Amino acid sequence: AIKAYDPENIFAKILRGDIPCNKVFEDDHVLAFHDIAPQAPTHILVIPKGSYTSYDDFAENASDAEIVAYTRAIGKISAAAGVVEDGYRLIANTRDHGRQDVPHLHVHIIGGTKLGLMLP
Ligand code: 5GP
Repeated sequence: AIKAYDPENIFAKILRGDIPCNKVFEDDHVLAFHDIAPQAPTHILVIPKGSYTSYDDFAENASDAEIVAYTRAIGKISAAAGVVEDGYRLIANTRDHGRQDVPHLHVHIIGGTKLGLMLP
């Protein structure tokens, strides 16, 4: 069965202000911050403020306003990070097979260098 949202996950704590983050962007629906263990020169995590475990949960349960805000924010943050012209990678690791560590939806924006191949 798919697990319920865990309000003690680390990104929930960041959203509550219980632990700090290096913030890149924030609006009513979205928070973005630098990954604590960057895998490339640009490594930003973009999360919705709502309590969604995964992209599938978000797509099914978020409001249209949240979905628009999140989708546009990922594009704007990528552009502001300066990775759009040379290219970059968006990743949303999901659950066990996707090797998701933090069970709050997050899209990784990774770029700033030519990335390696990574599938599977
Ligand atoms: P996942 O495997 O769930 O897609 O990736 C979780 C990401 O969150 C990892 O890249 C990890 O480095 C990052 N991360 C884990 N804990 C923290 C934290 O406390 N602060 C920040 N900024 N990033 C974190």
